[in-house]
Amino acid sequence: MRLFYDLHLHSCLSPCGSDDMTPNNLVNMAALLGFQLIAVTDHNACGNAGAVLEAGRAAGLVVVPGMELCTAEEAHVVCLFPTVAAAEEFEAIVVRHSPPLKNRPEIFGRQLRLNAADELVAEEERMLLASSFLTAEEAARRVRALGGAAFPAHVDRDSYSLIASLGAIPPEPGFRAAEVSPSGDPRALLRANPELCGLPLLMNSDAHYLENMPDPAAWIDLPEASPEALIAFLNGGLTAPWYRPGRSEDGLSWL
Ligand SMILES: [Zn+2]
Ligand SMILES: [Zn+2]
Repeated sequence: MRLFYDLHLHSCLSPCGSDDMTPNNLVNMAALLGFQLIAVTDHNACGNAGAVLEAGRAAGLVVVPGMELCTAEEAHVVCLFPTVAAAEEFEAIVVRHSPPLKNRPEIFGRQLRLNAADELVAEEERMLLASSFLTAEEAARRVRALGGAAFPAHVDRDSYSLIASLGAIPPEPGFRAAEVSPSGDPRALLRANPELCGLPLLMNSDAHYLENMPDPAAWIDLPEASPEALIAFLNGGLTAPWYRPGRSEDGLSWL
């Protein structure tokens, strides 16, 4: 089935995310815009994943629990999980492999954990913007061990991307998908980084504000709308060409 997706969205738990990115605002905006499959991916944390999933169920939207991890290479990697429990298990690993820094909300922004009714549960004290000590390879290995999938975020950007940090996508852990920014030029990216050829390029918004959530622009074909089907695709389990995401206006793949 063809699903309009956005697999990189920040909630109010991210210090740089708007306080208005509450679980209900996020899923209702996504549903209103016409998305069928989204992921909540806060920086180095999964504390709002359960609430966003619950709100998503009420809005008729499939939500995948996730995290945008800042790796030891200072690169962002989107990590997605089949369940909230698996996401929380990964978060515990990240906490153990991160510097013990506290957030300074007056400088970096508040880190709000809410419940499915958008009520404040707690403010996360950990500094979520710090780089963890996990390399991209180690992180992806651990994500897969928990039944999840990982892909390098916004590889076309000059900062916090694996290509910016290392000059190329490393051969290990064998990423089977990568993310390009909506404003990026996939063809130029592929010319400069042939190691990406053959990988599905995902186009996600990386929205931190409700007003930055765009109209659906790319779709993905999955056997069903579920975190498991998405993770199987991202891990390369579904390799037929028609499973590659494409642009909605012409239905063509970028590849
Ligand atoms: Zn990022
Ligand atoms: Zn992001």
